[in-house]
Amino acid sequence: MLSTETKSIILSTVPVLEQHGEAITGRFYHILFSEHPELLNLFNQTNQRKGNQQTALANAVYAAAAHIDNLSVILPVVQRISEKHRALGVKPDQYAIVGETLLKAIQEVLGDAATPEIIDAWAQAYNVIADVFISVEHELYREAAEQPGGWRGFREFVVRDKVKESEAITSFYLEPADGKAIASYIPGQYLTLLVQVPGQPYLQRRHYSLSDAPGKPYYRISVKREAGVNGLPDGIVSTYLHDTVQVGDRLQASAPAGDFKLDTTNERPIVLLSGGVGMTPLVSMAQTLAEHGDTRPIVYIHAAIEGSVHAFDRRLRELAKQPNFSYHVVYERPQGEDERHPHFTKSGFVDRDLIERLAPADATFYFCGPTPYMRAIYKTLHAMGIQEDRIRFEFFGPTSQLVD
Ligand code: FAD
Repeated sequence: MLSTETKSIILSTVPVLEQHGEAITGRFYHILFSEHPELLNLFNQTNQRKGNQQTALANAVYAAAAHIDNLSVILPVVQRISEKHRALGVKPDQYAIVGETLLKAIQEVLGDAATPEIIDAWAQAYNVIADVFISVEHELYREAAEQPGGWRGFREFVVRDKVKESEAITSFYLEPADGKAIASYIPGQYLTLLVQVPGQPYLQRRHYSLSDAPGKPYYRISVKREAGVNGLPDGIVSTYLHDTVQVGDRLQASAPAGDFKLDTTNERPIVLLSGGVGMTPLVSMAQTLAEHGDTRPIVYIHAAIEGSVHAFDRRLRELAKQPNFSYHVVYERPQGEDERHPHFTKSGFVDRDLIERLAPADATFYFCGPTPYMRAIYKTLHAMGIQEDRIRFEFFGPTSQLVD
């Protein structure tokens, strides 16, 4: 338990640390990687270069500290982060390293302003916060290992099939190399790959949503080839998967994870909104509902730049033959025959008018797509008065990027 005095030091210094947030986390990562270079294999180095990880860490620590009086408020965020940590293989002892390094960084950046009392208060608060994460992650490791077909850490899979879904997206069908059962998952969850890409100095870990319905003897992930634009390097793992990995090759994956899950505990209509490759978890949901013979109204609205990069269209057209499933396609810049697509609804973007026209107001809304799409849909659903518990989303980048 933290004393009232410690809590008040934390609450009064959160704004100061926030103000120096970037400097502190920049320094933090510098110290961390020079003292513990093995951690370069754990942290996503592309996110490091883009500065995403710095923002994510700073936001998580300050948000936790600001709620030090009542950490239960941030439990949903802890759950989301811990799911990722478990999937990536974060270990309890790494929290101590991060804590020590963070305190060193705070001390260096704030200098004398960081008095021994302040450093001590932050050390105590960090331990309380770290314990919350460690205990949630302990439970997630246990669940992942103990469920039927489950496992701890990374397991070897063989690529059984590689199927092009569009000009940009290719599916990989993964079967366990040991031939044993695999853990089930809830549509919306993801698989995390651990890859040694030739020419890259560190191991790479990336999450990929499971794009098929569960209950198959394989996992299917569907990956967009992230080509570098404007002189930026190509995406490391996605281009490796597309260009190099072939049927018969082996990949390491941790057990399915994630808190973005299809909820079938009520009878509400379901609206699935996807942009680009963000369709992967939603296609899994649509497919699962169909396989279960679910008869509630299901509205699927997909946004793509144009038809050539629109994946899973054939599957969704099939699903749209069911009377309860409606499928709508929005192309930002339709080309050639795109406007003749039988489910083509409009060109441009998904907007409030369209959602209000197509979606039952009492539905649960699930969405996933690129950052501007996520921001627009989130704002729109709020403006429409949809309650928070009926808004569910997955984001393929750090959540901090969604916050204005
Ligand atoms: P990275 O090497 O990570 O690069 C990413 C992008 O950054 C590239 O476009 C690259 O050009 C650019 N970049 C590189 N260096 C810089 C720099 N210095 N400055 C600015 N930009 C730079 N992806 C899918 O395709 N399908 C999925 O189903 C899917 N599901 C996901 C589920 C979750 C929960 C999450 C978190 C992510 C998911 N992703 C999915 C995204 C996926 O994890 C990877 O982020 C994606 O494949 C890119 O990884 P990469 O290694 O190819 O690219």
